[in-house]
Amino acid sequence: MKVIQVKCPQCNSPIQSKVRDHLFYCTQCNTMHTRNGGIEKLDYEIGEFNQSAQGERLYMPFWRVYATLVVHSKDVEGGSLFKLTQWIKGASNTGNMFIYIPATELDNAGFRALSGRFTSNPPKYSTRLNFGNVNRLPATISKQEAANLADFVVVTMEAEQPGVLQRLNYTLTVNDTKLVFLPFVKGPQGMMPAL
Ligand SMILES: [Zn+2]
Repeated sequence: MKVIQVKCPQCNSPIQSKVRDHLFYCTQCNTMHTRNGGIEKLDYEIGEFNQSAQGERLYMPFWRVYATLVVHSKDVEGGSLFKLTQWIKGASNTGNMFIYIPATELDNAGFRALSGRFTSNPPKYSTRLNFGNVNRLPATISKQEAANLADFVVVTMEAEQPGVLQRLNYTLTVNDTKLVFLPFVKGPQGMMPAL
């Protein structure tokens, strides 16, 4: 297995990473950074576990993309846009939204289920300052890739209502991307959110 050793950009402590992971976490000073095209310290949040959650605990990284959506024109058969109307209030054609991009390796169905679930219902949680003894899954999707995937998530969510959306001309502008670690448990049915 390939081991990478780098130094924390904050305190210079050595950090070893054994898996393909875009994120480097310093256990000495809790600084998280990425080295994808230059060292960048990352702002991040760690969600607290629901104490009644059963199973093996782990943290899954998400890129929470804060974006502005502008719909220029649309062609919708027999109604209005399904999900997009939740983000665009009233008669306006503009809305702001948080798009959750799972940053770890998932199959297509898992990716769509989690991005759809958290983007339509933003998760609520209290935060904590460190991971405790809970493992975090590696981030295989970079911050830049997440910004590109945000577009894909919006379109696939809307397209889940078959036959309704005929045409959509829009612009999605990414304002900010934050790293969020959400609590999960591994059970018989696979990984489930433990919020
Ligand atoms: Zn450090």
